[in-house]
Amino acid sequence: MNVDAKRSIEQDIAHHVHPQTNLRQHAEKGPTMITHGKGVFIYDSEGREIIDGFSGLGCVSLGYHNERLAEAAMRQMNTLPFAPTFYNRSHPRVAELGERLIGMAPGGMNRVMFQCSGSEANDTAIKLIWYANTARGEPQRRKIIGRIRGYHGNTIATVSLSGQPHMHAKFGLPLPEFKHTELPNYYRFHIDGESEEEFSARMARSFEELVLREGPETVAAFFAEPAISGGGALMPPKGYWEEMQAVIRKYGITFLVDEVVCGFGRTGNMWGAETWGLKPDMVSCAKALSAAFFPISALMFKDELYAEMMRNSDEVGVFGHGYTYAGHPVGAAVSLQALDIYDEIDLIGHVRKVSKRFLERCDAMQDHPLVAEVRGVGLFCGFELMRDAKARIPFDPAWKVGALVQDFAHDRGLYLRAIGDRISFMPPLIINEEEIDLATERFKGALDDAWAVVK
Ligand code: PLP
Repeated sequence: MNVDAKRSIEQDIAHHVHPQTNLRQHAEKGPTMITHGKGVFIYDSEGREIIDGFSGLGCVSLGYHNERLAEAAMRQMNTLPFAPTFYNRSHPRVAELGERLIGMAPGGMNRVMFQCSGSEANDTAIKLIWYANTARGEPQRRKIIGRIRGYHGNTIATVSLSGQPHMHAKFGLPLPEFKHTELPNYYRFHIDGESEEEFSARMARSFEELVLREGPETVAAFFAEPAISGGGALMPPKGYWEEMQAVIRKYGITFLVDEVVCGFGRTGNMWGAETWGLKPDMVSCAKALSAAFFPISALMFKDELYAEMMRNSDEVGVFGHGYTYAGHPVGAAVSLQALDIYDEIDLIGHVRKVSKRFLERCDAMQDHPLVAEVRGVGLFCGFELMRDAKARIPFDPAWKVGALVQDFAHDRGLYLRAIGDRISFMPPLIINEEEIDLATERFKGALDDAWAVVK
């Protein structure tokens, strides 16, 4: 390690408080200091080359080096580095990006608002739903339903909506308006002999029972990712979305589809909503919108909701919401460039092509003694680790088997993400077949290493 890296690590330990990190472990071990990246590879301060099997945080769609994105940012910084979108001011790049996104959005969206993160997009959506319901004369419709283990962000509202107990513990959350329905993990939670379709119908019944218990007149919205990412790359079981959407429609519940991870090609279509036939009323997106080169997110919705916003704005005199950096010119310019690149390289076609190899290699790990279930789509795959796959007996959580696999993978030069004993594998969308072979070989090696410890 060179002296600068050592100094960076000391500085980091001394002052930098890390999100989503075991603080004690950080104080003792320090960070992995990532110094640079190229293609699907990242490099750390110890000179290790690591394949990024988690795309940063599910966001680095085009890898770690792209001249065109860098130039787009530079050009915009030299032309107009900032312009507010408050007080009816605008700038050409954000207007163009709005038109472009609405032109490609799923489900007939007409309006778009910009923010800087997925959390802010979803938080804005919650506020807009409450705002519109007030205009409609239904101010009591405030409850928002998410799913156990779902993830929609980290503001007070979005983390309340997320079903992640460790993000609620000690914070006095969730807020009372936020409710959670069951996690559709067929492998773990199906009853012996229950088909996927029967399991999906049971999940939808349970959701409907929750709506009825809470009082449908108080339920405003249901938020869901097409496939759960933060809860560990969980693909929806057969029939799940048909059954769930029937309940959503029956009770006039607003349906927000969170495309923060699935959007822009991850599942082999532009949107996860396309992959699973979802009909959203609102769509949030972020991450790959700018290929992660600049923080930007977007919330899209329909004219119907916009009309209610207009009514309130007429009454109050202003639509009282917004962030300084909403629709940042550099973010807009970078996103437009990213969308151009996606078209030019036919990113969706590429994902579909390499996905065959990716899923084949992932499926081959199903036979490993640690692995109970492998499920994926596009370049998005989840692995369930179990002590006994057939009897569905999990490992003692204290063994931290998922973390063990993650650590061994890192030692072998592959970054994966363990969420409990589920492993999430989602490399940058530009990954090629050779890199897929290398990544999956390293993954297999990490499973062997972990098996040697726990067997
Ligand atoms: N929604 C989903 C599905 C996510 O995975 C995330 C972050 O990982 C968010 C929302 C929050 O996005 P951000 O971290 O940009 O606030």
